[in-house]
Amino acid sequence: MTRAIRHFLQSFLLLELFRGLRLTGRRLFSRKLTIQYPEEKTPQSHRFRGLHALRRYPNGEERCIACKLCEAVCPALAITIDSEQRADGTRRTTRYDIDLFKCIYCGFCEEACPVDSIVETRVFEYHFEQRGDHIMTKEKLLAIGEKHEQQIAADRAADAAYR
Ligand code: SF4
Ligand code: SF4
Repeated sequence: MTRAIRHFLQSFLLLELFRGLRLTGRRLFSRKLTIQYPEEKTPQSHRFRGLHALRRYPNGEERCIACKLCEAVCPALAITIDSEQRADGTRRTTRYDIDLFKCIYCGFCEEACPVDSIVETRVFEYHFEQRGDHIMTKEKLLAIGEKHEQQIAADRAADAAYR
């Protein structure tokens, strides 16, 4: 009975509401923790693991030597590589696909790569509109690498200094 009366008084006097307003009032002038995305963005680490890219050397040659270490280490089996030997005896990929629906962005592929070819960029704002867009082909990965090479190189240098 006492409990029912207390509950009635609490509701009648709007005590819960005033408790909530007190909390709001306390937070009103304190430092804001939320940001107005997408106009505002939080800082990113140079080790951020976003969309993948394949890199080239400054002379335009593909870095990837088709060793398939990334394919072997990928825990999600997201990478598929086919390769062939070129006339000069070097090996290059003829197919390099990453299935982004399988990828868990663990970064193992870039850790395993001996020539800094496959990397994860800071790009995280992307979407797919057509069936099959989630497969990142070699051409798409190389194009992303070319577009973001400056940032990728700076991030790799920062990472090397950090280690
Ligand atoms: S980030 Fe991880 S899951 Fe994604 S492709 Fe690389 S190794 Fe595979
Ligand atoms: S991206 Fe790197 S690890 Fe993967 S096949 Fe090419 S050279 Fe090897």
